[in-house]
Amino acid sequence: MDNFDLHNHSTASDGLLSPTRLVELGASNGADAMALTDHDTVDGLEEAAAAARRLGVAFVNGVEVSVTWGETTVHVVGLGIDPGSPVLAAGLKSIRDGRLGRAARMAQALEKLGIPGTLEAALALAGSEKRLSRTHFARHLAETGRVRDTQHAFDKYLGKGKPAYVQHEWSRLEDAMAWIRGAGGVAVLAHPGRYGLKPLGRATLLEEFKRLGGEAIEVVTGSHRPEEYATWRRVAEEYGFLASRGSDFHGPGESPVMPGRLPPLPASLVPVWTRWAH
Ligand code: AMP
Ligand code: MN
Ligand code: MN
Ligand code: MN
Repeated sequence: MDNFDLHNHSTASDGLLSPTRLVELGASNGADAMALTDHDTVDGLEEAAAAARRLGVAFVNGVEVSVTWGETTVHVVGLGIDPGSPVLAAGLKSIRDGRLGRAARMAQALEKLGIPGTLEAALALAGSEKRLSRTHFARHLAETGRVRDTQHAFDKYLGKGKPAYVQHEWSRLEDAMAWIRGAGGVAVLAHPGRYGLKPLGRATLLEEFKRLGGEAIEVVTGSHRPEEYATWRRVAEEYGFLASRGSDFHGPGESPVMPGRLPPLPASLVPVWTRWAH
């Protein structure tokens, strides 16, 4: 039992599949255990847990918290959280409350670039202003042929430093860590290779994360290129972090790795699931 996929999204945030369909897909790919880790919400967990029970897949309650660390947006995954934790719920709500205002500014920027109506369109795709993410804007831009696919929407408009990118304050790292740990969860630094940090910034982030009680980093993730796995294996060893494995799946045809379809963790690492599973 080692096919753990501990990072997945559903329609409760910016994924394309319902929690049930997500878990069904992971199960059909041979996942032994799955976590649902939607952005800044625990809304999908109950449904996903029920599907997992029905399918005989072990389920881990998770969340992916958006953090602003200096100039950098960082994601911290909380695993094994209590979804009923009031401290966590209040913290996540404070993050979600900022989404509509940021989306309006992104839509304004797109309008200036000659692309009107994106706020309404993205909102329709998201289904709720609390879930509105850049992913929904990207899907709209792809669907209307403004870009060839969602990745291109980030590369051309929505990624950091691109013309419709809006700097936003999410949560502070120390707060996010306190919410996750206060809810009984294990804090995992998500896709550390995605932040574009130079060596000094990277070391500072890893040290701060560890000092605040961070226990694990993602090593094998759909958000790292396979040739990056070795880098993050070494970092996990150097800092004494547990290692996590998760597809970061958002949807078929959109995500590079399907749920339950990741390569194994390097054998030298201690998997994060040893914290709760044996
Ligand atoms: P948001 O929280 O609204 O800023 O949206 C962040 C989400 O957009 C991430 O969780 C990814 O799903 C997606 N995303 C961010 N940057 C990129 C990128 N460069 N390429 C593809 N997807 C991205
Ligand atoms: Mn996402
Ligand atoms: Mn992320
Ligand atoms: Mn994610």
